[in-house]
Amino acid sequence: MACSALRTVVLTTRPLLQFRAAPAGALHFSTTTPAAGEKKHYKLCIVGGGAAGISNGSKFGRKLGQGNVCIVEPSEVHYYQPMWTLVGGGVKSLTQSGKAMADVMPQTVDWIKAGAEEFSPENNLVRCSDGTEITYDYLIVAMGLQLHYEKVKGLPEAFQYDGVGSNFSSKYVEKTFRAIQDFKGGNAIFTFPNTPIKCAGAPQKIMYLADDYWTRNNVRDKANISYNTALPVVFGVKKYAAILADLCQRRNLKINYRHNLVEVIPDKKEAVFEHLDTGEKITFPYDMIHITPPMGPLEVLKKSPLADSVGWVDVDKQTLQHVRYPNVFSTGDCSSLPTSKTAAAVAAQCGILYNNLSAIMDSQEPGKKYDGYTSCPLVTSRGKCILAEFDYDLQPLETFPVDQGKERRTMWHLKANVMPEIYWTGLLKGRWAGPGFYRKAMRLGMGK
Ligand SMILES: Cc1cc2nc3c(=O)[nH]c(=O)nc-3n(C[C@H](O)[C@H](O)[C@H](O)COP(=O)(O)OP(=O)(O)OC[C@H]3O[C@@H](n4cnc5c(N)ncnc54)[C@H](O)[C@@H]3O)c2cc1C
Repeated sequence: MACSALRTVVLTTRPLLQFRAAPAGALHFSTTTPAAGEKKHYKLCIVGGGAAGISNGSKFGRKLGQGNVCIVEPSEVHYYQPMWTLVGGGVKSLTQSGKAMADVMPQTVDWIKAGAEEFSPENNLVRCSDGTEITYDYLIVAMGLQLHYEKVKGLPEAFQYDGVGSNFSSKYVEKTFRAIQDFKGGNAIFTFPNTPIKCAGAPQKIMYLADDYWTRNNVRDKANISYNTALPVVFGVKKYAAILADLCQRRNLKINYRHNLVEVIPDKKEAVFEHLDTGEKITFPYDMIHITPPMGPLEVLKKSPLADSVGWVDVDKQTLQHVRYPNVFSTGDCSSLPTSKTAAAVAAQCGILYNNLSAIMDSQEPGKKYDGYTSCPLVTSRGKCILAEFDYDLQPLETFPVDQGKERRTMWHLKANVMPEIYWTGLLKGRWAGPGFYRKAMRLGMGK
């Protein structure tokens, strides 16, 4: 018994050893952090310590001071998920994409190391998995979204087999590059599901990186590569869709539209797709498959009064304020904001949220309006990238005074080397609210 308990501890702590852990006992966060089961009141409670939660925690921790802000977050590790495209593509390691949560948690906030289990906005109350009850004056919900591998028959078991990977989970992202390396020819399939997802460009970016890897390693002429997407278009923004469709044609990457993955049969190496217009089931043999799982809102939000009819946190698309509870805001992947779910969008949203929630705290109207800004660095090979940036109307909202629809080496450096730095030292520290200021400056104030 003792032995198996010890083994459990060793097994569960081993991945964390890769990260720079805080010294034992040297808790960086406030000593007032409540013990499990305690009742505690905060001026501001933030639920979720991902990109959006930590960024808001940094901003409001500075504004409101020690002891007034808490972040409810159960995970020990914080990942910079946009790097997983490059981890799956063999350019970066999983270790490079993560840091100990203790190291990114702002000094000025209390860390409630538990999951939120129940929201009672009428009572300004959040109940946590460890029994802690938090009441608040203001609430920010920033809990990300749920991956639903289990909604595809045969998953997640199929990940135990070679040739199956997925960049969307820290558990499976390293399997992607292994599958790419092991592939010696045959059919390679990249999927896009029939749900909203985070970073809608990621399912095809990994295809471009794999294509490039196989070209460099003399495997490409033995490969049939297909992109099986539930969507009727390759990308939601017309300008970039036209460029990407052309790129796929030039590189002989076959796009099968309206194909939704419903089953993986790993011992036969078969993937079954449903054609969403005809209902026909079509079986594709594969030698390698990259899976983007269905995604959706978290159960805890779906069952809460905060949810819209689907389960996303029901906020005003311009102010980010909840449509029924004025002291509640939401940002990031869990929100109902009808834009592409990205860390870039989170950055722009956090600036708006800070202004609008600050106004509410000062008994003023929220005056700042979010335009839906989001961005997707479409990596097209190792060393090249198209930087897509757009708004709610799916109109390009480009930062640089060049045509960003062109594949560029500079944009690759931005994606691979500059953006991670902006994330860790700008966004998470609450000092980066997106490139709006630079866009206006570079366009001499003439752009949006
Ligand atoms: C493969 C991949 C590629 C991507 N590429 C890009 C890119 O190129 N550019 C870009 O801008 N974005 C990209 N993204 C998207 C980006 O990572 C997300 O949009 C962003 O992380 C969203 O931030 P968030 O804070 O809303 O959610 P997250 O960062 O996912 O954080 C949510 C947090 O909530 C916590 N949580 C969950 N349940 C609970 C609970 N019950 N109680 C308390 N806390 C909870 C989680 O532990 C987590 O820490 C990519 C994502 C992936 C997976």
